[in-house]
Amino acid sequence: MLVLVTNELKNMQVGLCYDCRHARTITSDRGSSFIMCQYSAVDSTFPKYPRLPVFSCAAYLPTNDPLRTSNS
Ligand code: SF4
Repeated sequence: MLVLVTNELKNMQVGLCYDCRHARTITSDRGSSFIMCQYSAVDSTFPKYPRLPVFSCAAYLPTNDPLRTSNS
């Protein structure tokens, strides 16, 4: 139950990127986390680091594996 609440809060802060197949989580050396949109490599009109939360996106592609890291 606690995990569900936490995931809902993250979803509210990140928006569609939270469970988008194109999103990757990047963590800096200082521990800050960023969402990188891999679709930006295919279409340069998409920002590499989208301004969050994203509420509307033409390339949104939902996945059951939300917020994967850049290494997965
Ligand atoms: S395609 Fe859209 S929803 Fe998906 S990661 Fe990029 S900006 Fe976020």
